[in-house]
Amino acid sequence: MTNTIESFAGEDILSVNQFDRESLNAIFSIAHEMRVLVERFGSAELLQGKILANLFYEPSTRTSSSFTAAMQRLGGQVIPINNVQYSSVSKGESLPDTIRTLECYADVIVIRHPEVGAAATAAYYAHKPVINAGDGVGEHPTQALLDLFTVQEELQQVDELTVAMVGDLRFGRTVHSLTKLLLNYNVSFIFVSPEILRLPADVLAAVDASGHSYAQVEDLHSVIGEADVLYMTRVQRERFTDLAEYDRVKDFFVVDQALMSQARERMIVMHPLPRVGEISYALDDDPRSAYFRQMRNGMYIRMALLAALLGKA
Ligand code: ASP
Repeated sequence: MTNTIESFAGEDILSVNQFDRESLNAIFSIAHEMRVLVERFGSAELLQGKILANLFYEPSTRTSSSFTAAMQRLGGQVIPINNVQYSSVSKGESLPDTIRTLECYADVIVIRHPEVGAAATAAYYAHKPVINAGDGVGEHPTQALLDLFTVQEELQQVDELTVAMVGDLRFGRTVHSLTKLLLNYNVSFIFVSPEILRLPADVLAAVDASGHSYAQVEDLHSVIGEADVLYMTRVQRERFTDLAEYDRVKDFFVVDQALMSQARERMIVMHPLPRVGEISYALDDDPRSAYFRQMRNGMYIRMALLAALLGKA
């Protein structure tokens, strides 16, 4: 496990299991400085001369563009490969060969891929740092870091909170990563989902083994009043083999003003986005709605990570 910021230089970011409280504090304090830097000056030259390869085999708006913005705001440059269908991947090139190619040109590689473990495979072949930007239903560690940073920034604490994870807990990789990351803190969990979208056994086993208290329920109304953090998620249509099953569960939870009237005054609503109906647009002006601030935090966290991996933090 890496825990000082210096020890991140040259490392890969593949899973949240790489982090402990000490390293999280270090990253969050750099992310905080990055916010100040952007607000005061817009950009810096810390990563001037460095190049990031942004390799996305699955759709992305926030992750891809916030990595680009993070690199550019620190003076670096980006090779964007968002349409792998127009790259040599469509000619049948293997992942290892694509990675070996990109590392000839770039100093760090960000990869999103539909298969669990693809980022680890990329890291195995690469001599440059690889960042997992989502590997299928596996993990999304940089999202979990920005999620946790958001909780800390919004509520000034993580310990002693009750976190309700709502929606597609089975296929939602951001839930898998955030749940595991939160095991570093003294929190309790409420997992709210329909039966078929419950948390995978391995993630639940990690929660069990850690001794954190949790409940698994199907009804959001009865528990919303207990949540300090309401972490909403989209039902991951692309992971279903049977779309009729998707249709049965896709509108299971919708947070609207009526439901929020039962929530605490001091709590936050988060969502990794995109939302496709889980949060009413009428809630966007509610001060408890933190999802837009959350995505802004993504750029600061990614600036901090890039600086750390490239030995400039
Ligand atoms: N953007 C997040 C992800 O890539 C959440 C989602 O797509 O629902 O996992």
